[in-house]
Amino acid sequence: ATVIIDGKRVAEEIIESVKSRRAIENIVPGLAVILVGNDAASSVYVRSKSARAKECGFVSKQFDLHADVSESEVLELINNLNNDSTIHGILVQLPLPKQINAHHVIQSIAPEKDVDGFHYLNTGKLTTGDTSDVLVPCTPAGSIHLIKAVMGSTLSGKHAVVIGRSNIVGKPMASLLLQENCTVTIIHSRTETPAELCKLADIVVAAVGIPKHIKEGWIKPGAVVIDVGINRITTEEGKNTLVGDVDFDNVIDKVSAITPVPGGVGPMTISMLMQNTLEAAIRSKRIA
Ligand code: NAD
Repeated sequence: ATVIIDGKRVAEEIIESVKSRRAIENIVPGLAVILVGNDAASSVYVRSKSARAKECGFVSKQFDLHADVSESEVLELINNLNNDSTIHGILVQLPLPKQINAHHVIQSIAPEKDVDGFHYLNTGKLTTGDTSDVLVPCTPAGSIHLIKAVMGSTLSGKHAVVIGRSNIVGKPMASLLLQENCTVTIIHSRTETPAELCKLADIVVAAVGIPKHIKEGWIKPGAVVIDVGINRITTEEGKNTLVGDVDFDNVIDKVSAITPVPGGVGPMTISMLMQNTLEAAIRSKRIA
């Protein structure tokens, strides 16, 4: 029977383990979340990150900055947070408005507080396989966790196809799969014959941003499918709903396991953020 991977349940288990580890360590991790402007989706994400942090027993500080704030003001805030010993994780919600260079902002975060894992030191450690004190991007970390949950130690040697090459999802996902000894193919917007390549995959990770793009013809029978996509669409009946990058109903009879949208990778992302923040706080206590 096809396994519908319950990301919500796994994500709750991680939250519970973060809560108990925090209590055992007897520390109060501090998470700073910076939101610039009032993008609707970003506001929702930031609010749920702050709420989860509080639930885990963290101190959560949310900074809502005006859409026309200057880059130097953002950099100054980050500099203050870098020097604040009560803050262990700093997160800047993307995307940022045009006047702000996201690259400058991300690289200004102290690497040991970079709980999104986007700083060069962390991406460099990930790609070189240096696991010492690395912070791994939350969505790929959550995705690999789900893959391991269904495949266990049988991951080694399998062909994994990642669809999408963003710095946030696709590239770090490919690095994590490589670390698990998968044979990795990355498909992107310029790839010729994407469906044919995808059909060779034992594991498919879709991070494209196109609703229901991946159809049955792309899937090898028995593949494990992780759908990272979160697309807001309006149905023919005029209802607003969320769908993934994979056409779930179309592929369901062909796959051995698949994540639903919502309730798959989405909840895992926030759980991994809590785990990264806890790790960052534990490491800072170890150094102090
Ligand atoms: P992105 O737009 O930065 O990257 C999309 C990638 O898809 C690009 O690398 C592009 O080359 C590739 N692509 C575009 N068209 C393609 C095509 N026709 N065939 C193959 N590849 C194609 O997006 P992203 O930030 O990586 O996010 C991807 C999706 O994942 C989005 O739906 C986003 O909302 C979702 N997402 C979910 C979470 C989560 O928590 N679950 C987190 C981040 C992103």
